[in-house]
Amino acid sequence: MSETISYESLLARIQARDEHSHDVLDPATGDLVGRAPVQDLDALERAIERARAAQPGWAALTDQARRDHLHRAADAVERWAEPLAELLSREQGKPLDGLNARFEVGGCVAWLRAAAETPLPTEVLVDDGATYAEMQYRPIGVVGAITPWNWPMMIAIWQIAPSLRMGNTVVAKPAQSTDLSGLAIAAVLNTTLPADVLTVVTGPGRSIGQALSSHPSIGKIMFTGSTEVGRQIIEASADNITRLTLELGGNDAGIVLPDVDPAAIAEGLFWGAFINTGQTCAALKRLYVHDSVYDAVVENLIAFAASVPMGIGLQEGNLLGPLQNRKQYETVVALVAAAKESGAQIVLGGDPDDAAVGHFYPTTLVTDIDPHNALVVEEQFGPALPIIRYSEVEEAIRLANELDFGLGASVWSSDRAKAQQIAGRLEAGTVWLNSHGGLHPMVPFGGAKQSGYGREFGVEGLKAVSEAQVIVG
Ligand code: NAD
Repeated sequence: MSETISYESLLARIQARDEHSHDVLDPATGDLVGRAPVQDLDALERAIERARAAQPGWAALTDQARRDHLHRAADAVERWAEPLAELLSREQGKPLDGLNARFEVGGCVAWLRAAAETPLPTEVLVDDGATYAEMQYRPIGVVGAITPWNWPMMIAIWQIAPSLRMGNTVVAKPAQSTDLSGLAIAAVLNTTLPADVLTVVTGPGRSIGQALSSHPSIGKIMFTGSTEVGRQIIEASADNITRLTLELGGNDAGIVLPDVDPAAIAEGLFWGAFINTGQTCAALKRLYVHDSVYDAVVENLIAFAASVPMGIGLQEGNLLGPLQNRKQYETVVALVAAAKESGAQIVLGGDPDDAAVGHFYPTTLVTDIDPHNALVVEEQFGPALPIIRYSEVEEAIRLANELDFGLGASVWSSDRAKAQQIAGRLEAGTVWLNSHGGLHPMVPFGGAKQSGYGREFGVEGLKAVSEAQVIVG
């Protein structure tokens, strides 16, 4: 890629040039963003073949050389940060500011550098005079990286960066509704990476994703997406015993104890739930609030939520955007309508303009809702938060744990010891205290129960894209 750094030059690099392509429309305006290629199984086959051929040479580099490559790739993302953020905003819908497009591109840089800097030395397991055993971490081969549409650049980096660091090559498949974002972040990485170490293949999940997951030359699938597709990948991977990391759906609970200061926690609760306009796997999706503070928590949440601007991502100042696609918009519409029908109170929002061009759903808070209403027990993945009243903390813990999901959870309290004790009883991969959803590149992240298995980030994340080998003697 020439180093004329502009949005136009980024788009020119990744746009489809023939009729095997689909229109990408801005979810806020309906405007054409560009055309993304729709590739076929032959293209996938060629990409896997090239990745397989490139892998031994990449693995033969020293660890330091691969770490240097990751830092150079991070430098390239920094240089291209503004065009990447603009494309992300136009295609995904998220605003430039706040915890949105620029934040996501910054996350790509942070996770690339963390993958480069995380040490993973050979471990001496036993050295007692009689036995010497050590464990080292070898590349698996070619990794298939399948991503969703909500954080299409950052989640791709979560999969790609550790895989490359450990000597694997990567064939990546973005979600079709954010193909351009997946292509763009890889194109920027490929300004500095050797040829064929990272290739993107676009196309429908049911053909390209399925074929990638069942391919005998793919040693590992890194998958982030829905639990339903996660199950299909498990089946597709069975014949080849392909290694899997599955980051699946979430329906995170937050429990607010009676000792909180409702005004002080409103902002944290809001962004825990509404980050990326609610389209985040580990967002707070059901909030259990003790009866004694329920009204005050709701009041403070309404006041904060009503002050957060929603609108077209490229218009500076907006902090919430549209739903990324019509299907997700309709899911939220149906869930809130059913909640209303059942007698729940819509205390903010809940009145979308169906005739609007963009997929905007207003910030919505739903109170006095039955704990088993669909808006509570299904993943809404949008800007509508159900707030459930409880009177005994045991009841809240039971309700939080009763679903099959187990990605994240949070406890809100001014008593740290009490909050920690409750956290230990919640069935979730991560439990946050007095916040929700914050991630760190050195802190392992992943799901319990049907939210998936395996951990990303930090040392655990490097091990997950490696084959452990024990040497004895
Ligand atoms: P999705 O499961 O529909 O699609 C994810 C990816 O899988 C896409 O690239 C899609 O094309 C591909 N795919 C579809 N069918 C496939 C198949 N049969 N085989 C292989 N690949 C296939 O998910 P989505 O709608 O893009 O994203 C939303 C979901 O992702 C939500 O459930 C959300 O909770 C989850 N998610 C989880 C995490 C996490 O870290 N646990 C992070 C982000 C999103």
